[in-house]
Amino acid sequence: MKNLYDLVIIGSGPGGYISAIRASQLGLRTAIIEKYQKLGGTCLNVGCIPSKSLLDSSKYFFLAKKKYSSHGIFFEKLFMDFRKMMDRKNKIVENINNGIKYLMKKNKIDLYQGIGSFKTKNILSVTDIKSLEKEKKIQFKYCIISTGSKPLCLSQLNFNIENRIISSTEALNLKEIPKKLIIIGGGIIGLELGSIFNRLGSKIIIIETMDKIISNMDNSLSQEIRKILEKSSIQIETSLSVTSIFKKNDEEISVLAKYHNGKEVNFIGNYCLLSIGRTPYTKNMGLENIKIKINQKGFISVNDDLQTSINNIYAIGDVIGGKMLAHKAEEEGLYVVEHIAGKKPNKLNYDLIPSIIYTYPEVASVGRSENDIKKDKIECNIGIFPMKILGRARTSGCTDGFLKMISHKKTDEILGVHIIGDHAADMIMEASVAMEFRSSSEDIYRICHPHPTFSEAFKEAALLNFENRSIHM
Ligand code: FAD
Repeated sequence: MKNLYDLVIIGSGPGGYISAIRASQLGLRTAIIEKYQKLGGTCLNVGCIPSKSLLDSSKYFFLAKKKYSSHGIFFEKLFMDFRKMMDRKNKIVENINNGIKYLMKKNKIDLYQGIGSFKTKNILSVTDIKSLEKEKKIQFKYCIISTGSKPLCLSQLNFNIENRIISSTEALNLKEIPKKLIIIGGGIIGLELGSIFNRLGSKIIIIETMDKIISNMDNSLSQEIRKILEKSSIQIETSLSVTSIFKKNDEEISVLAKYHNGKEVNFIGNYCLLSIGRTPYTKNMGLENIKIKINQKGFISVNDDLQTSINNIYAIGDVIGGKMLAHKAEEEGLYVVEHIAGKKPNKLNYDLIPSIIYTYPEVASVGRSENDIKKDKIECNIGIFPMKILGRARTSGCTDGFLKMISHKKTDEILGVHIIGDHAADMIMEASVAMEFRSSSEDIYRICHPHPTFSEAFKEAALLNFENRSIHM
């Protein structure tokens, strides 16, 4: 039969398209279904890639404005061409879109454009998004659901007052730099998007209902990045919950909020960005037709092998919850495909998924936080090495931040690493590798680290843990 596949994948985000490539490499006849014309999912189209493109452009602008003069670099007339910055971002996304399309072709993966929906546990229909009548049927032995997530909305708020209450998707495609942007949610996305527009000159107010921003990361990261962002004029209000938002005039909205102590406050802004989390995408997929189980929060339930309640159908990535990150989706996809192909893949170590925030400097973390370790009453050593002591930090001009290593008091095994510093996003991989191999602080201390680099902070923090001493402190 023409439309019979070993594996069909619904969704072409990082979970879906990488699973498809691996399946094809393993000799499985594979198809991928994507509802939009553009492949790559949230990550490529409205997530990781466009946000990092704008973060980089705005960082260079900020550095040119605030830091380059100390290097002896001066500009006669410095300005930001916002449209050009957005065009560059769109071109990068388009290039990668085409790259993924090419990879599908190269790996002989059949692409079906439309909404995938289950008819039975072995048949999917694909309906054209524009003309809902055009329907194709495809049969499969196995299926992976990788339909991702969409921005969460506060149900009591009108999400679309004249396009002034926006999600991250609209924020990445604004036509103007907001004079004043109010951001609800002090998590990763709020901090990154706040940083972009702050560097472009917007007044940023971040409202967070918890008593700290990035509340699921190590407390020390939360405190330090707050100080750094406040130093760059971002206003951060914690223990504050939004009660209502309304239109003030054609260009302004009013955000009413209440502190946990009962005091009320009113902020006026041109836009309000809601970044309070994301919700799984499970609508219009016919999950009910084959009784795929969904948990109380709406995520698809899976077992340890990422199998849904129907055993030839698997689910990965944002749609099953946990850390909503592209690299988690990818790893889950690779695991499932190899499992289906009869290999014996290693299970993803969920305790060692790195988290990164692309502020300046960057925040990166892997393993357990001090807060968690202390809650479990595990005795530990904590080495904190400030970046400002490093020669490399001084030459680069970014001396903010630190590297914090936590290791077990008795065994010296590294339990968590938390960094704020330039290049932290790339540096965190040293910690991931070390922890995957269950290294001790002593192991890291005894490895030759190149000089001058930011990575020397690892050696110094490890030495603090191992022998309670440091070379440069
Ligand atoms: P998605 O990427 O969401 O892909 C799902 C795909 O399925 C979509 O293309 C959708 O159109 C399609 N689909 C849905 N339903 C159907 C259907 N019925 N039929 C056919 N197709 C369907 N993560 C990081 O790791 N690093 C970052 O720096 C980062 N930055 C981010 C910045 C922002 C602003 C946002 C919003 C997210 C960011 N993320 C980041 C998170 C990351 O984008 C997601 O974790 C990742 O995209 C999840 O991948 P996925 O494959 O599970 O789903």
